[in-house]
Amino acid sequence: MTAPAPKSTILIIDDNADTIRLLSAMVREQGRVLFATSGAAGLELARLQRPQLILLDVEMQGMDGFAVNEQIRRDPDLRSSAVIFVTAQSSPEAEIACLDAGAVDFIPKPLNAPVVQARVRTHLRLQAALATLDDLANQDGLTGLYNRRYFDRQLATEFARHRRHQLPLGVVLIDVDDFKLFNDRYGHQRGDACLQEVAEALIDGSRRPGELAGRYGGEEFVVLLPNTTPEALARYGEWLCRRIAALGIPHPGASAAPHVTASIGLCSLIPADGDTPQAMLHAADMALYRAKRAGRNRSVLADGAEPGEQVA
Ligand code: GH3
Ligand code: MG
Ligand code: MG
Ligand code: MG
Repeated sequence: MTAPAPKSTILIIDDNADTIRLLSAMVREQGRVLFATSGAAGLELARLQRPQLILLDVEMQGMDGFAVNEQIRRDPDLRSSAVIFVTAQSSPEAEIACLDAGAVDFIPKPLNAPVVQARVRTHLRLQAALATLDDLANQDGLTGLYNRRYFDRQLATEFARHRRHQLPLGVVLIDVDDFKLFNDRYGHQRGDACLQEVAEALIDGSRRPGELAGRYGGEEFVVLLPNTTPEALARYGEWLCRRIAALGIPHPGASAAPHVTASIGLCSLIPADGDTPQAMLHAADMALYRAKRAGRNRSVLADGAEPGEQVA
């Protein structure tokens, strides 16, 4: 039997101090226990602490459990927390109403310690499994970087945020040079290992808060750099080119150098009305194309003026 993850957080929201004391004592072996005595305080705490599990009293003064649950389900920051209703109303109708509201379970009062513990244990396990699935769904299997799906979602979010605050967003497209030749010469397995090394360099080069490296597909990678001016982005591109070349992975057949190199397309943009994440990626892709044409192993910054520009 696998134990629930040791770092699980359980939030108890109940307007009765005795119930909180009783419940806390029952579940304290199963995780870090927090509590709040009103719906509003509970929501605030949930936002700060992101508990895996919320034990939510149905009958509360002011905002009742159903109202609190509705806010949790509606809020993207909160809805990954599972809610178990705790209630004295034990009719089948009441139980169904709890589950219909989106709670994962229902604990009847008066509280019975083994029942409470069994339900909490089950749902902490399920929550841990869901979190693992979520990570896997966002990850590229070969490199451990974020995958394209996740990157596209983050790009859309960051694009909107940068437009709202009128900040420059930086996007970096990276394509390994002459990689088909590398595979032809050394085989697919060494090719995979090479991609993993390049991915490590990208992770290393994007550690600041909000920075994100992903595998866009095949031998193409992408980095998102929040609040980055064209000048800073150009410096980053050059640094990254050198960083990848410095891995020193032999590639005698390559056109730019006798080791593995990459070409890089950059775009930095303060998003305005009418700009889209797609147009921004396209601009970075055009810049990447220019880097390839100019001899590879270099980075090129897209012209800010005309992000959709075709290069002959
Ligand atoms: P260029 O410098 O113009 O980018 O040339 P290239 O050979 O890198 O580009 P091309 O698009 O012709 O070839 C990309 C190669 O990347 C072909 C494909 O076999 C290889 N590739 C794509 N994904 C993987 C992968 O997951 N593992 C390995 N080993 N190779 C891959
Ligand atoms: Mg109550
Ligand atoms: Mg390619
Ligand atoms: Mg390539």
